[in-house]
Amino acid sequence: MLRRIHAELLRSAVGSEFSPRALDEIIAASVKQDAFWTGQIGHDEYHFDNNAFDKSRAFIEDQRALIAPALENGDVETAWRAFGKLTHTAQDFYSHSNYVDLWLSFQSDGLKPAPSEIDPLDDVLVSSPTLRSGKIYYPLEALAFVPVLKKLVIPLLPRDSHAWMNLDSAGRGPLFEYAFSAAIKRTCYEFDVTTRNFSPGLLALFRDLSSDHAA
Ligand SMILES: [Zn+2]
Repeated sequence: MLRRIHAELLRSAVGSEFSPRALDEIIAASVKQDAFWTGQIGHDEYHFDNNAFDKSRAFIEDQRALIAPALENGDVETAWRAFGKLTHTAQDFYSHSNYVDLWLSFQSDGLKPAPSEIDPLDDVLVSSPTLRSGKIYYPLEALAFVPVLKKLVIPLLPRDSHAWMNLDSAGRGPLFEYAFSAAIKRTCYEFDVTTRNFSPGLLALFRDLSSDHAA
């Protein structure tokens, strides 16, 4: 997803869970994960690119595992950064894979439910052998991000490329709304999974409710 979409997803899904200070740190870490040299090159697992499903899921769990120990050490920034990173990856699952397509194709009698009805974690689809994510074909793929070159470059890329498959913004058509809705639900789910074993004190620290900036 585009950086502003990641920010919007976090604000909509978990904005009320955190203080403004915590939310800003979480958003900054999420957005930073899209930096070209440090976040894109060699990091398929940050974005569910190149069919890196197992690696991306492992990345989410690795980041989650950092959160409670960081909070116990009073290092809230590390905890917020890890949550920003893991939710970025979880959100990209819906914009970089064919999950939305698969979910729609599994609806009975060709019905097309509203985007708000999407199940973000349908067990059958998540483990389906037909689940795919967009491949990154460098260097052409990088040029597809340059607005003036986009129209020239995209036709040259294969249909299984990120450039063809992505649902990164509303400009990608009506399926984007499904990816967006699934990503909101998934972000709420990731918050619940992350915090479900927290003591009340740890949860308050994570949400930054004890700070002067608490919402
Ligand atoms: Zn990404």
